This record gives sequence, C-alpha cells and structure tokens, in this order.
Amino acid sequence: MEQGHPNILLIYTGGTIGMIKDPNTGALKAFDFNNLLKQIPELKLLDCDINTVSFEEPIDSSNMSPEYWVQLAEIIEAHYLDFDGFVVLHGSDTMSYTASALSFMLENLAKPVILTGSQLPIGDLRTDAKENLITSIQMASLRHRNRPVIREVGLYFEYKLYRGNRTTKINAEHFEAFESLNYPHLAESGVHLKINHDYLFKPNARKKLVVHKLFDTNVALIKLFPGISKTTLECMSHNPHIKGVILETYGAGNATTAPWFVDFIKQLVKKGVHVVNVTQCSGGSVAMGQYETSSHLQNIGVISGKDITTEAAITKLMYLLGEKVAVKTFKTIFETALRGELS
Ligand code: ASP
Repeated sequence: MEQGHPNILLIYTGGTIGMIKDPNTGALKAFDFNNLLKQIPELKLLDCDINTVSFEEPIDSSNMSPEYWVQLAEIIEAHYLDFDGFVVLHGSDTMSYTASALSFMLENLAKPVILTGSQLPIGDLRTDAKENLITSIQMASLRHRNRPVIREVGLYFEYKLYRGNRTTKINAEHFEAFESLNYPHLAESGVHLKINHDYLFKPNARKKLVVHKLFDTNVALIKLFPGISKTTLECMSHNPHIKGVILETYGAGNATTAPWFVDFIKQLVKKGVHVVNVTQCSGGSVAMGQYETSSHLQNIGVISGKDITTEAAITKLMYLLGEKVAVKTFKTIFETALRGELS
C-alpha cells in the first residue's frame, strides 16, 4: 500500500463487460483479461496502480452461486492488506445479489469493494463499459486523510455509486440499469465526482476484517399473487430441509387473510422456519400492523424485512442460517441493519 498513489485490484468474474466482438465473425467472446490495459489504454492515465486477477473461467452472472461468492471473497481476503481498493467486474444480471452477499461476508470491511459491469461489451463502439470501469476505479482510489473514502461494498453503474446491498436491477435495456429506491446514492459522477459523505457507511476501523464463508441455501422465495393456491405452497411446507422463507407480500407487507394461508404460515413458523416479510414494491417499507392484512403475520411471529431489497433479504437469510444464529435471536438480528442494508 503506497501513500498518495493507490493500489487497485481489478477482479474479473465475467459478464458482458469483458466481451469483445470478433472482427471476423461478429460474435461476442470473452477477451484475454491480461490484455486489459491494451484494450483500454485510458487506464494508464489513471493516477493509481492497477493489478488484475480473473476467474479461471469467467461466467455469465446468471450462473452465479454462493461457491463463486466465496471465491470472490477469498481473492479480496488474500489481497486485502496489499491493496487500497477492489473493483469487481461482474455481469449485471445478478450483481445486486453478489453485492449484498459480499457485504455480509466482509465484516468490518474498511476499504472500497466496487462492483461494476456494463450493458454493452467493452469492445462495442457505444459501450458504457469504459465509463463504468474508469469511474469505478477512480471511486475506489478516492482517499481522504490517508484512508479510503468508500469503506463498503458499492455498485457503480451509469454515473452513480450505490450501496451495493440497496440495489436492484430494474432495466435490461437502459444504461441506467440499477436503482436504490430506499437509500440515496453514495456518489455521482458529473464534471466532478460528488460524494454524499453523510450516507457513506462508517465501519469501525479498529476492528479487523472477518470473512464469513458459509451460506445455507435451504431457503425459499415466495412471491404472493392473487390466486396463489394452497397446493402450490404445500410443496414447500412438505420439504423437510427448508429453514427460511422470504415472503414477498403486497404494498406495506400485506397478505391474504384466507384461513388456509394463515394456517400455512403458522405451521411453517411452528416448525422453526424463519419467515421474512418483504414487500414486492421496489420502494417503501413493510409496516406490519398498519393494515389488518398484515397484523396476522405480525401475530404469528413473522420477521419484518422493513425496507430491505429481496436480493439483500435472501442473501442475509442464507448468511445468518450459515452462521447458525440461534433461533431465539434470529428475528432481532434479521431486523437489525448489519451492513446498512435496511433502515
Ligand atoms: N447476462 C449478463 C450477465 O449478467 C448480462 C450482463 O453482463 O450485463 O452476466
């Protein structure tokens, strides 16, 4: 780690950003990441040292899984002391899940880990990849009083840096592919980089990085819809392995009061399954008890996801189950912001 001249590790996991058009066939293919500096000569102009490391076999992020999250966290862990910041190139499809998972895995993180990607490959004339990549590196290089400005897992896309675990991919077409509806963006890139200092995560810098690597995937995600049937849901309650359920409800956390449904949730909770209430709305919060249609969930002991995203909720559930958090404290811990993922 050099003073005044940041050292950035660029980690390539795959996704559209790392692809280039074969001039002969026109087909998109992953380019040799070791040649990155050749592909983007602008990187040489940045006021930092850049080293690169790539997944052996880069993946489309639709193939992302907890095993890859561990791989990614281990790369960061192995290089944590040698670098001032980390930029992760990742497919946009599941980027919000990875950003959320990493935020839980990297306890006491005090350096920037910024995920970015692009809608068009880096070799495309109209690509958004160069701006996303260059500005992510600049954001990761920002320092104040000899310490990094960003000290959390962020996601940078189309001129905005967001808290990673607050994001959702909202558009498969626009360059502005992500939103963070329940938390303000952390920084914006215009003529200058404008940082919203008040909203940055403030870790306890005296504590050492702890990397958590166990995820329990015995979880389920149920999105309610008018017409959802008892038989469909029963498949789940018959699964003996399920330990946690994210229930995507309507509006401020509301659900049908049909007796069969109430009974279904009661049985789950009675069996020791953790049920978390998360809203289907992209913005806003669960407020159990505000309507009669959510009081029954509150009375059964359902956990409030408050204003958490589904991506952060499912990864938090897998993380807390992996950590074997005691049944007695599970609800309180889930409802507490661990990495700024809920208000
Ligand atoms: N399918 C790609 C992926 O998520 C899309 C992208 O890179 O944006 O890996």
